[in-house]
Amino acid sequence: MTIVDVIDKKRDGHKHSQAELVFIAEAASGQHDVADYQLSAWLMAAYLNGLDDEETLWLTLAMAASGERLDLSGVPKPWLDKHSTGGVGDKTTLVLLPLLAACGITMVKMSGRGLGITGGTIDKLESIPGFRTDLSPQEVIAQAKRIGLAITGQSPNLAPADKTLYGIRDTAGMVSSIPLIASSVLSKKIAAGADHLVLDVKCGSGAFMTDLASAQKLARTLKTIAEMAGIKSSVAISDMSSPLGRCIGNALEVREAFEVLTGAEGRFTDLCIDLAAGALLNVGFAESLEAGRQKSQSALSQGDALEKWDAWILAQTEGAVSGADILKHLPTAPIIRDLTWKGPPGHIVSVDAAPIGETVLALGGGRTHKGDAVDHRVGIEIRALIGTQVAENDPIATIHAPNEFGFELAYASISDSFILKKGPLSLSKALMEWLT
Ligand code: URA
Repeated sequence: MTIVDVIDKKRDGHKHSQAELVFIAEAASGQHDVADYQLSAWLMAAYLNGLDDEETLWLTLAMAASGERLDLSGVPKPWLDKHSTGGVGDKTTLVLLPLLAACGITMVKMSGRGLGITGGTIDKLESIPGFRTDLSPQEVIAQAKRIGLAITGQSPNLAPADKTLYGIRDTAGMVSSIPLIASSVLSKKIAAGADHLVLDVKCGSGAFMTDLASAQKLARTLKTIAEMAGIKSSVAISDMSSPLGRCIGNALEVREAFEVLTGAEGRFTDLCIDLAAGALLNVGFAESLEAGRQKSQSALSQGDALEKWDAWILAQTEGAVSGADILKHLPTAPIIRDLTWKGPPGHIVSVDAAPIGETVLALGGGRTHKGDAVDHRVGIEIRALIGTQVAENDPIATIHAPNEFGFELAYASISDSFILKKGPLSLSKALMEWLT
């Protein structure tokens, strides 16, 4: 078999054999003499002509097998991984890891860094001075056995074929292909060892998938391929037309996650409880979503989730004395100043996620190129959340900027993101639907 034969086959719209997709994954992990431009040609053929479910499964399994795999045997079951397709202010992982570990699920997670307007969990955690995001596989397993949860950055040895293929897609206009996204996400989940998975597919202006129909299509493919690969999966679609929660920006989001663990309520807390309920149902620790919600709610209100947060922070942070103490050491921006409402009175019905995400990126809170440094101090705190009544001169956001120029830029770019409505309101939950 040659790479040119494989490219020709997909270019002409034919179905691949399993061996051909194994060849692609092996080529992408350096096992054959194939150039990046040839992989790029194949990716574009697959992007345009698609891969059916069977081809997507074969590619996923071959990519998962292209490097090391984390062997969780010996770690108490059930093992669950949680994945979000990424959104503005999405710090759900920071809450769900300790919350679900407190409910008896082993949570082992490899997370990525942020790129573009969607933040990354590893960047958020790195705003905690001394937090280690480079645990070795042995350290991950030892910590998961000891306290029931561990998180580490993406290992270069795990699904290396995805690293190559994603790098090409990202720089050549081929990210938004459903089978290519599904194989990329799921190959890493399989290599990281979990046998249960909760997927949160984001939908709206602050996400990859901006409309419900494409979010449903991605969600359906992810669920189908995960289950064909033997991973028990629950897939939710959640709203990303407005930022998630109050804070957007790395250190600010760590603080907000801690607040949820210490009792803060609201739309973001509700999403965490809903997703935790789906996870508990998935592993058989709850008989219904409602029972799962009650169990998660009580892990929060009884302080069990907070206890796990403490254990987690102490285990992974050099020099930490408690999980609460780290809040004192989170970096803060030199300029922290309000943006006030300059319109008629009414209720805020939405806050457009895309300009808020772009502004935090422009302040230095995210990266436009892989490897860029991130400023953990900066961000936006939304004061007028959805449903808040505002009148002229009320503070609607607090800008955390690195300098005056950043503050002015943020002030100008987010002022129009707050949408007002007069009269009665009907507010929807962040979790839109579960796939059945
Ligand atoms: N995240 C991934 O890991 N892969 C994709 O293809 C898109 C988002």
